[in-house]
Amino acid sequence: MSELACYAAREETSKGRVYKEVGPSHRNQYQRDRDRIIHSAAFRRLEYKTQVFVNHEGDMFRTRLTHSIEVAQIGRTIARALKLNEDLTEAICLAHDLGHTPFGHAGQDILNDCMREHGGFEHNLQSLRVVDVLEERYAEFTGLNLMYETREGILKHCSRTKAAELGELGLRFLEGRQPGLEAQVANIADEIAYNNHDVDDGLRAGLITINQLNECELFHAQQIAVNKQWPGLHERRMIHEIVRRMINSLVSDLIATSQTKISKTDPVDINAVRNAGMPLIELSQQMAANQKELKRFLHKNLYQHHRVQQMMQKTKIIIKELFDAYMTDMGLLPADVQQSAIKFEDRAGVPGHARTIADYIAGMTDRFAIAEHKRIANPPLGGNA
Ligand code: MG
Repeated sequence: MSELACYAAREETSKGRVYKEVGPSHRNQYQRDRDRIIHSAAFRRLEYKTQVFVNHEGDMFRTRLTHSIEVAQIGRTIARALKLNEDLTEAICLAHDLGHTPFGHAGQDILNDCMREHGGFEHNLQSLRVVDVLEERYAEFTGLNLMYETREGILKHCSRTKAAELGELGLRFLEGRQPGLEAQVANIADEIAYNNHDVDDGLRAGLITINQLNECELFHAQQIAVNKQWPGLHERRMIHEIVRRMINSLVSDLIATSQTKISKTDPVDINAVRNAGMPLIELSQQMAANQKELKRFLHKNLYQHHRVQQMMQKTKIIIKELFDAYMTDMGLLPADVQQSAIKFEDRAGVPGHARTIADYIAGMTDRFAIAEHKRIANPPLGGNA
């Protein structure tokens, strides 16, 4: 790895792992984290989880797996340019959505509703729960036993109530401190990735048009530049040219603006970054406004599009009915999940039981949830269809 800036995360000053381990022989500690994430079951399941379009709607759309890879690509570029820890940034980016339910945000909203009486459901917290508790891969510990800085980056948001239960990792939400710069980079790389790939996917699906998108300065500016340089370019190539230039303009602006802010603040190490009182990775005011405009556009025209909404409505019913069915009849759960439900109910009462069910549902892929719902709510009764 190229030379790290003094404000980057480094393993010599890391807060380390919860369970002490012998260091890796051929990799650094953050590369080991990245590799553990890639080998996890939750990571593989991202392939069949919705980003915006439900997985079976088409093979060309982003899934949560390809989204996470795009986030990592953008995050690594930014980290390298700012002399931050690229391996840590990559690990956080690849893990940031591990706790996502099937069916994207609709899935998480309805699972949160189902869990209202039992402590709620937050997908960021669930991503941390996946790497800390739910992955069962090592003889010596539960979870992946990741480095503190990786876990700090994965826990992007957290309610105050939950933060209070998390010890040192939750303290920053109560005390108003920032995470390290690698976590800040991963956070913005996520936004840059989804805004831009949702433009591409939305156009491909025919739910939004180039004409509509011209309302947005970020898109409009690049469309003019592409048309000028390549008049009459085939539409598919034109869209790709515009999107890649949009990403490039955001990333370049972010690197330049953050570099200036870091120089002004002059943090001597990662702790100075945490105590800086504000994020140091950010877009210029103009670019931030442009990005916000695009986000609003996507919200109104893509995420609220009646075809997306109809699908989301269906998926909410699937999650709700699965949750209710499992809560009423534990016999519907696989044996190992039943055992956990009994164990956690003994420890924490009904909320313990409900948490096991939420973990089980959150871990499902879109297609597994659809098939399971068919089995439970609408079982075939035999005879000729
Ligand atoms: Mg994401």
